[in-house]
Amino acid sequence: MTADPVDVVALTRALVDIDSTTGCERAAGRWLADYLRGRGWSVVEQRVDDARFNVIATSGDPAPGSSPEIVFSTHFDCVPPFFPSRIEGDRIYGRGACDAKGILAAQVASADRLRSDGDSRVGLVFVVGEERGSDGARAANEAAHGGGSRFLIDGEPTDNRLGVATRGILRLKLRAGGRAAHSSFPELGESAIDKLIDTLVELRSIALPRDPVLGRTHYTVGLIAGGVAPNVVSPSAEAEIMFRTVSDAAEVRRAVAPLERRVAIEHVLDVPPVRLRTVPGFDAAVFPYTTDIPFLPRWGEPLLFGPGSIHVAHTADEFVSIAELTAAAGHYVTLARALLSS
Ligand SMILES: [Zn+2]
Repeated sequence: MTADPVDVVALTRALVDIDSTTGCERAAGRWLADYLRGRGWSVVEQRVDDARFNVIATSGDPAPGSSPEIVFSTHFDCVPPFFPSRIEGDRIYGRGACDAKGILAAQVASADRLRSDGDSRVGLVFVVGEERGSDGARAANEAAHGGGSRFLIDGEPTDNRLGVATRGILRLKLRAGGRAAHSSFPELGESAIDKLIDTLVELRSIALPRDPVLGRTHYTVGLIAGGVAPNVVSPSAEAEIMFRTVSDAAEVRRAVAPLERRVAIEHVLDVPPVRLRTVPGFDAAVFPYTTDIPFLPRWGEPLLFGPGSIHVAHTADEFVSIAELTAAAGHYVTLARALLSS
């Protein structure tokens, strides 16, 4: 067991320098599991699929099969493209520096500190797949034996503020059908593209749910496709819409039901909005994105906190401030102590 404190900057860079684009997290998982074992953690590599696994660590001191009271959790997959770490001034640049390998390093540092101060009630749940469907978190939820933990401190970039609530997601696909015809005789056909356009215009005038904390529902028409050739009346067209929800998705589905006069509506994905626990003494804010939290209910009442800004996550300039990262490790300790004594 190593007694030296975790070097948050070195740990962040070591993780960033291993490409772990979603689907290819194996090498990073292997490195992380070995690193935690080297520091005396008891580590389970939880299978997610043939090539990938979550890394779940406990202090090893409690009775076998018992769960920690608090877990720190984040993901170690990243969006593409990979680029390695470099330091410029107070910043660590690199893919995952902000989302979420710096966060992971800060969580390891704080858990290590709590453990070396004699607190064995803290665990670590690091998952794959957050950036594409959350298959890692879904699997990790199954690993919460014996009732899981009391509190889940999830890490995503919040500029070291606690989340009050996060929006949910509803993805719907609109499919319009028509009848092909030579475009010189449009009256012989039925344009699917025209139906789809009319539907999308109608959608703009539909009142969508509002919430006093999260604000109004908004949406993006992110994908649109249709038609076969410029001189053919289009026989089919479809659009995919991502709503950022503020309440139960059923309310949105009820509001858009009148669109079914012109198109078929296919339900693709629904992730609920989440209310989060806060702790006095921390800045708090609402965040418009979703996280792995809805997929980890067995790991306890959720909190959301992490260094770095969501505005640089997923960009070519992704970075985290070293000062913010170092401060985060201390904030995580404070949060855990407040929760453990509650
Ligand atoms: Zn993330």
